[in-house]
Amino acid sequence: MYYEVIVDISNSEIDKVFDYHAPFSVEVGHRVLVPFGRRQVEGFVIGKKETSTCRHDIKDIILKLDEYPVILPEMIELAKYMATKNLRLIDCLRLFIPAKLRGGRIKVLKKNYLSFNTDLSLEEALSQVSKGAKAQRSIIIKLEKLGLVLESELNAEYSPSAVKALVDKGILIRQELEENRVPESLKRDNKVVTFTEEQQKAVDTINNGCAGTYLVHGVTGSGKTEIYMNVIDNVLKQGKTAIMLVPEISLTPQMHGLFRARFGDKVSVLHSGLSDGERYDEWRRLLLGQAQVALGARSAIFAPLKNLGIVIIDEEHDNSYVSESNPRYFTQEVAEFRTKYNGAKLILGSATPALETYHKAMSGKYTLITLKNRVNKKQLPIIETIDMRDEIRLGNTGVFSAGLVSALEETLKDGNQAMLFLNRRGYASFKRCRNCGFVPKCPNCDVSLTYHQEDETLRCHYCGAKYRTINKCPKCGYENLKEGKLGTEKVVEEVLRLFPTAKVLRMDNDTTKTKDSYVKILSDFGEGKADILVGTQMIAKGHDFKNVTLVGIIDADLSLYYSDYRSAERTFQLITQVAGRAGREQKAGRVIMQTYSPRHYVYGFAKEYNYEGFYKKEINTRELTKYPPFTKIVRLLVLAENVDDARIGADKLTAKLITLKTKVQGIRNLQKMSAPLKRLRNFYRYQVVIWLDIESENDLMPLIYQIANDGNTDRVTVFTEINPQQML
Ligand code: ADP
Ligand code: ZN
Repeated sequence: MYYEVIVDISNSEIDKVFDYHAPFSVEVGHRVLVPFGRRQVEGFVIGKKETSTCRHDIKDIILKLDEYPVILPEMIELAKYMATKNLRLIDCLRLFIPAKLRGGRIKVLKKNYLSFNTDLSLEEALSQVSKGAKAQRSIIIKLEKLGLVLESELNAEYSPSAVKALVDKGILIRQELEENRVPESLKRDNKVVTFTEEQQKAVDTINNGCAGTYLVHGVTGSGKTEIYMNVIDNVLKQGKTAIMLVPEISLTPQMHGLFRARFGDKVSVLHSGLSDGERYDEWRRLLLGQAQVALGARSAIFAPLKNLGIVIIDEEHDNSYVSESNPRYFTQEVAEFRTKYNGAKLILGSATPALETYHKAMSGKYTLITLKNRVNKKQLPIIETIDMRDEIRLGNTGVFSAGLVSALEETLKDGNQAMLFLNRRGYASFKRCRNCGFVPKCPNCDVSLTYHQEDETLRCHYCGAKYRTINKCPKCGYENLKEGKLGTEKVVEEVLRLFPTAKVLRMDNDTTKTKDSYVKILSDFGEGKADILVGTQMIAKGHDFKNVTLVGIIDADLSLYYSDYRSAERTFQLITQVAGRAGREQKAGRVIMQTYSPRHYVYGFAKEYNYEGFYKKEINTRELTKYPPFTKIVRLLVLAENVDDARIGADKLTAKLITLKTKVQGIRNLQKMSAPLKRLRNFYRYQVVIWLDIESENDLMPLIYQIANDGNTDRVTVFTEINPQQML
């Protein structure tokens, strides 16, 4: 028998399978130690076979690193599938196990337990111990009744020497047992609810439906979590397992608490807030079948569960589901693979589904389930717009409109809380006229031009068009075309200038660098330790603060004019989500949205919470302008430490793609340029952006992946991104 082993060497171009023999039994999925060159390295067994075409000496596997296979057969198939998409097999396999397992940096926690030797009677045992040995006698009497006791506890209560003496005499028996490290969770009650009609219909559709994908489109507060828990319950009853994904689990400790209350030890959580030991134990409980439900963020999609019955992706539109660091993968694509492999169901849930998801539901590829009402019948808060151009005309050039200031004043006076939201992504910025709201756009692509300060240009990130920057508005003649950029720090400063006694918390990338800082800020705000929370999109995600009566959106246009074809969609999603933070309990909520383009269609639909209306308008635009889902945009990102290597790498890819374009149908457009961020962490960056006809996608993508794979060398790395979120 030959074993196919993929070696686990970091930073190497070796992503090949090598054949080995084994002097003992090995299963597919085992981690092993193998001789490799002059070294010994770790590796994964990914296959077995009767014959080998290898012409070298076949060496023996040295040893198995774990008692059982750690990679399920399904996951090996998944890695192979992912590897066809310009990813390295070894990088995929590494995703499937706790990082610290590699190199043996983490172990099963074992503890010593003692029990009374039942071959002896109590009298026999006592007769072996002198009358004066009080401690030993008490231990014997205690353990004869108790069963297993932790040795360390006994040592602490009596004395290690007394305990040891009894073990040596054979009166106590020592056993080493494995122990799980259990992560903390919020205590929640397992509330029993009576489903609303809409909820009942949703669970019936899913529970009685066939394998496939379902979209649960329900307004915020429509009780989606209860639906998820019900359908998971149903799957568990059939002896199957479940994965539940949320955008960032450490931000939603509520969900963890709810799941623990409902499913007890059957649920295992995987998130960034766990210690390595906890993560390992939670993962192992899944692998060994001790837990059947995996709850976590993106990477929990790789949970080692057999016999998967359902995968649920909550807030499916959230961009945290797209991995933007190596290896780059789409959580939904992985989920689709796993649910198909298992004949399981995939549930996508959102109040504002991604346009592409909704399009699939509309075209019948997904089953659509709609929930139009909140469970408590509470109205969604009213969204008021404030035209910031009017403010300027009235001489107010500050961050806050008069309307928002007085609303804040009132909130503080009533002892309620406010959230001020400022959307800021990435490094890019745009130019905007503060008088008429004009924003320069690309004439070819209909996206906002990005302002590049270093050479004073305005550029389109899609087609590469480049213009000299302008300072005077071509529409109204105003002389002050400003850079649309404002920081959360500035907002806090302004709040404190206006309300010196207000207590303000700030949440953004800078204030959440340390591990638990998120939770700290959110819990402080939740406990009323501050009046106002200022933050970026981080504060938009699923939080439930009952005293928040005011939500202020400082500059709604910031996401609207981001140079991205999805900017309208993002803006709609953000406003809906942020607005959902206000007035969740008894107190009514108010949302104030500041904008320079109050008549933009996105705001009209967002104010009415009209997702369908927005969808219809937006999908039409996408069809006309040939953006996804009607085309596919592929970016090949070329990285190298040497600028010439990067440029030449990109040139080679471009040449191959041009050849391909002449041979096949379906490549609409092709552009090579330096990436908007020319250099990042010592790597020079070039990009080739390809537009494909959607009908040709299935034929062309394998060819493009192949070209990208071939572009990888010792010095050049090529990444493939599909409909990239952010083309930096
Ligand atoms: P969503 O995820 O759709 O925004 P949630 O699942 O968070 O909504 O539900 C909002 C609140 O309503 C939660 O506190 C939940 O416990 C409660 N809830 C859900 N379903 C019901 C029901 N049928 N009856 C009463 N309360 C419910
Ligand atoms: Zn353009």
